[in-house]
Parts: sequence; structure tokens; C-alpha cells
Amino acid sequence: MTMDVLSLARLLVGYDTISPSSGERACLEAAAPLLRTAGFRVRFDDYGPGRSNLCAQLRPDSGAPSLCLAGHIDTVPLGSAAWSVDPFAGEVRDGRLFGRGACDMKGGMAALVCAAVRAAPFVPPDRDLCVHMYGGEETGCEGSFHLVADPSLLGHPAAVVVGEPTDNLPLVGHKGALWLRGETTGRTAHASMPEQGDNALLTAMRAAGRILAHDFTRQAHPHLGPTTLTATTMHAGLNINSVPDSAVFTLDLRTVPEPGNAALAAAVAALAGDETRFTTLLDVPPVWSSPDDPWISRVTGLWAARHGRRNAAPGTVQFFTDAAAIRSALPSVPILIYGPGDPAMAHRTDEFCPVSQLFEAVSFYLDVIADWCGVDRARTGDAA
Ligand SMILES: [Zn+2]
Repeated sequence: MTMDVLSLARLLVGYDTISPSSGERACLEAAAPLLRTAGFRVRFDDYGPGRSNLCAQLRPDSGAPSLCLAGHIDTVPLGSAAWSVDPFAGEVRDGRLFGRGACDMKGGMAALVCAAVRAAPFVPPDRDLCVHMYGGEETGCEGSFHLVADPSLLGHPAAVVVGEPTDNLPLVGHKGALWLRGETTGRTAHASMPEQGDNALLTAMRAAGRILAHDFTRQAHPHLGPTTLTATTMHAGLNINSVPDSAVFTLDLRTVPEPGNAALAAAVAALAGDETRFTTLLDVPPVWSSPDDPWISRVTGLWAARHGRRNAAPGTVQFFTDAAAIRSALPSVPILIYGPGDPAMAHRTDEFCPVSQLFEAVSFYLDVIADWCGVDRARTGDAA
């Protein structure tokens, strides 16, 4: 069973996998036969009703180091604006594949699967190749964090490619995220006698003020930039003439390797003081792989050679990806982020991916796999 990358991308787009949705398992089951026929052992990793990841390993139980090709099959909702195409039809027009997830990232996922299927016969016995198809990325990498927590599914990745849309440019990192919810409590009273109460809103405002006055940007990463922190919501009070006895606010931090999420959470709590209780709503670590890492430098060299450049100068992005979950499980494995589609097109109405980029991505993934396997690239053929 074979399928070209465009057909597979259209097949995946045809499933409604809007996160959080119960359609993930069905979408993954549609892709599974391709991988099975190519010799992969396919296992599903269920983490909720209809919610699932797929893990395909070519040499399971061998202990061989693997190249892991990873992406997600869930999408964001359609948005409130009307689409000019059916978001689940996989319509191709003017060289573009339209649909929810065409860019982020069913196109990239299809390209990873097609490259893995094509390369499977050439993988030597002492090397493994695996494909991870995650659900739940758009709701905080739920799927990938679930899969990487199981050592038997994770296997032994020595290098990872995440196929998020990068316009087919090689990227080596992105910021992490830390979402905190602060809560204060007090004692209500008539607003004409505020001294009788304990105003939770004022307590929250003072705590938030101390946090926001702090400069978190001093330890900038040379490539990812500084940690940023901003206050995003604050809610308190039920009516205009009562002292509020509870208040809640949220903070969105975008983080870099130093000082890192745990140290930042502690610093925020210390600035707020004992009167504020914090709950962590999302904790996604930053991702950074040095361009000098031997594997990163080899694969970015392959990219440069393909594009007739002397070197690649790999970049970074602002949004987080499943690479964060992989990084949390494998602190030192090199991770390359490369995939078809303009990242600015992700989550948009009338989302699309250029068809030519789908085929180009398969071809580059085959460069990377051939290099990993030590086989002549000419043997693996191309993207069709
Ligand atoms: Zn994505």
C-alpha cells in the first residue's frame, strides 16, 4: 500500500480532529495501514475517549537508536468567519491544498509518513526509524506528553524531526510557555465600610503589580531572546457595592532555557507573596538544539546543499510545538523543526499549504533519513 503525500494529506484533512475532539483515533487508524504495510509496528496510545497518539517503530524491542519523525494530527477550531472552501474536503486549487490542518500540520504529518514508508526498506538492522503522530497538541501538547511518558513507546530516539510548518526552513528552537493562575481570598463587607472587609482584588492587584514591575528580560538567550511575562486576565467581585472576597488573575510567560520554567514559577510566587496561591495551567519547556550539534550541523548542511547555499543559519520560532514534550523526556537529543506551509497560515480561515512544499518536504526528509541510515540517497528515490 502506497500513497503520495498529497493524497495522504487530503485523507488526513478529511477527518475532523478539532482539539479537544474525539476524532483523533479514527484519523490515526486511517494512516496506520500505510505504516504497517511498510513494516512498522503500529501501536495506539489512547489518552481519552477517541483521543489517541500513534507510535510506529520499524525495529521495536531492538534497542537500536532511532530517528524519530514527529507531528500532530489535531487542529484548532474553524473560527467564526465563513470559509470559502469546505474545511474538510481537501480541495486543491492553484497549487494549494486547502483545509483545516492543511498547514498546521496534516501536510507536514503526511510528508513525514510518506518519507518513512519510502525509506523503510533501506533502514539497516542497527538503526531504528519511528513515526509519532500525536493528538492534543493544540491544547498544550497533551498527546505528546502522554506518549513520551511511556518508555516502551518512546524507544531510543537519538535525533528528532518535528514537521511543524516552517516554510521548509530548518529551525532549531522555540520558546517554552508557563501559564500561571494566581488566586487571592479576603473577606466581603459593604463597600461603604471597606475597613470591615479584606479586599481580595487589592491583594491581587498589588501582587500582580510586584510581578509586572520585575524585569524578567535580563537573562536573554542569544537566539531565543528573553523570557517575556504578561498579565492576561483578572476577575474579581460580584457587585459594585461589596468588597470582593476572591480574585483570580492569569499570567502568560514565554520562557527560554535560563532561568527556565521551574525557577520562573518560584520567582513569581516569591514576588507575589504568601497571600497569592498559584496553580500551573501549562508548563511547556523551551526547546533549543545547538547548530553545532553534529547531527544538526549535518542535516542543516543537507538543507544548504539542496538550496545551493554555503550554510543554513538555522532559525527559531515563537510558538511552541510537540518538540517541548520530546525535550522534557530527552533533555539532550537534537531536535530539528522543519515542515511545509507558512507558519503565518496556521489557524487561519481558508488555511492552505502549497502542494510543491509537500513534495519538497518529503524529499528533504528522505535526505535526512538516508543520512541517518548511512545509505546512498539515490537509492531511496523521491517524493512521488
Ligand atoms: Zn502545529
